[in-house]
Amino acid sequence: MKVYLGVDVGSVTTKFVLIDEYKNILTSCYLKTSGDPILAIKQGLKHIETTAPSSATIQAVGTTGSARSLAGVVVGADIVKNEITAHAVAAITRVPEVRTVFEIGGQDSKLIIIRDGIVEDFAMNTICAAGTGSFLEHQAVRLNVPIEEFGKLASQARQGVRIAGRCTVFAESDMIHKQQLGFGKPEIAKGLSEALVRNFINNLASGKSIEGPIVFQGGVAANQGIVEAFRDFYQREMEIVVPPEHGVMGAWGAAILAFEYAPRESAFQGYSVVDRSFETRSFNCEDCPNSCEVVGLLEDGKVKALWGSRCGKWTPQSAQSRFTGVENGIAEVFGYRS
Ligand code: SF4
Repeated sequence: MKVYLGVDVGSVTTKFVLIDEYKNILTSCYLKTSGDPILAIKQGLKHIETTAPSSATIQAVGTTGSARSLAGVVVGADIVKNEITAHAVAAITRVPEVRTVFEIGGQDSKLIIIRDGIVEDFAMNTICAAGTGSFLEHQAVRLNVPIEEFGKLASQARQGVRIAGRCTVFAESDMIHKQQLGFGKPEIAKGLSEALVRNFINNLASGKSIEGPIVFQGGVAANQGIVEAFRDFYQREMEIVVPPEHGVMGAWGAAILAFEYAPRESAFQGYSVVDRSFETRSFNCEDCPNSCEVVGLLEDGKVKALWGSRCGKWTPQSAQSRFTGVENGIAEVFGYRS
């Protein structure tokens, strides 16, 4: 059975999706990256190996997400694509008439404008936490409410209290102020949901033509309070679709791209990747004022891939000694292991 793997490694979560030739999801997983993307990749691959149909043979691999290049080297990707493309491809597959995509993840958020099945414009927020899942998680901790309960709590409120949510620091002090005025947790949870939606719209949608159907995806789309806040924002006049696979849309898009661009022979490294040992190291190149931080992925002391050199002067071979202190070639001759 021919199958295709998509991997989406973000700063907060890592997602894997395995699809068949009809783009149907056979198995998937959603894990915390927990600051160790290589470990998360290994755990995800192990899950896919144990849950995939026994006859499944991976024909191609696609990676996306902020650590897509790293994931591409570790897993062996045939195609490496940015998150905008991967999310748009999945949204178009699920809702072919989609005209706007809202994607809110743990650490960033995206808005994609699609017309006639093609990405026309997009905006990304990777800097301000106020329009992302981390904003909600942070405030949920302050309210002493499990994040899973947050949406349910917000839906119990008849009306949300207005919270200044332009920035997480202001939101926190305003939230405490509103608590002191006697507002209950449901009103505050609803107010925070509305604040997140206002931030998302202010940060990403200004000057853009938002048209429905909107596909709302990303981990935060599981929060019914936010879905309702978006519906209220558009006065219930905009169609907002939350697909069942909303949490793994990036990985699904990467798998679809792998299917569409499948080479004759895949670069997939096999499930044995979980038993291999990788590490990341870096050095600062001071050969010009750019002072690039060059990051290398090493396996058994050998540099497998590099990132961060703006001029491209470093190759895995030329950077070997900078990472290991051992001249090129010597590593193999003397069996050196860093
Ligand atoms: S890697 Fe290239 S651009 Fe970066 S500091 Fe070195 S010489 Fe300059």
